[in-house]
Parts: sequence; structure tokens; C-alpha cells
Amino acid sequence: MGGKAKPTKHSAKEIAGKVAAATTNKGGGKAGLADRKGGAAGHAKFKCPSCGQQAPSIKSAEMHWDSKHSKLPFVPGDWSDTHAEHGGVTTAGVAVKGAAKQKTVHELAKTKTGQEKLKQLEQEKLKQQF
Ligand SMILES: [Zn+2]
Repeated sequence: MGGKAKPTKHSAKEIAGKVAAATTNKGGGKAGLADRKGGAAGHAKFKCPSCGQQAPSIKSAEMHWDSKHSKLPFVPGDWSDTHAEHGGVTTAGVAVKGAAKQKTVHELAKTKTGQEKLKQLEQEKLKQQF
């Protein structure tokens, strides 16, 4: 062991862990948890009019109907679209920490005023060092 190689300051595993922590939709308390459950609407889009079983798509809804309620005709219109009922809002990713910040810097770099703002921030940083 040892040798001339400099010890690495960050292992790949460590960095991967940090990236995961910044981009994984976790934490955020009650708001984060509710968000991960798909907000008020939930992830499943359709709800069986007969037994209340939820289905993510009308196709899986039909499969459920065929296996559970095949005596009655399948009527897609009877399946309530829970997403539409809640305004189409489901998971918003409120607890994702990294993405929003990175995007802001990225967005700033795109515009001329944004680039100036970034320069200004850099200069303020330098001033604080002295
Ligand atoms: Zn059903």
C-alpha cells in the first residue's frame, strides 16, 4: 500500500452519495412526504367506479375491470380521473435540494444580465476574502 500516488480527497462513492443526497426527492418534512405521495391526487390516475381500486392508466384500468368486474361492460368515462380533479398537479419535487439551485446558476449564465450578476457575485466573494 502507499506509494507515490496522492491520496484522493473524495472517493467516487463519497461523491455519488453527495449527488444522491442533493438530487433525491427525500426529506422536506411533511410537505416532502406529501409531495412524494403524488400530492393530493396520488400517483394513480384512475379510480375504479366499482371497488375504488386505483390504476395508473386507462389500459391498466381496463385490465383490472376485465379481471374483477367482467360481468359489466367497461366504461372508461366512469373511471374518475383523480389527476384532473386536483388540477393535474401531482409530485412537484419540493424536497429535491440540488436541482433548483443548479438551474438558477445555469439560467443566469444564459443571459447577459445574468452573466453580469454572476461576475458581481464573484467580486463580492473576493472582497469578503480580504
Ligand atoms: Zn374494481
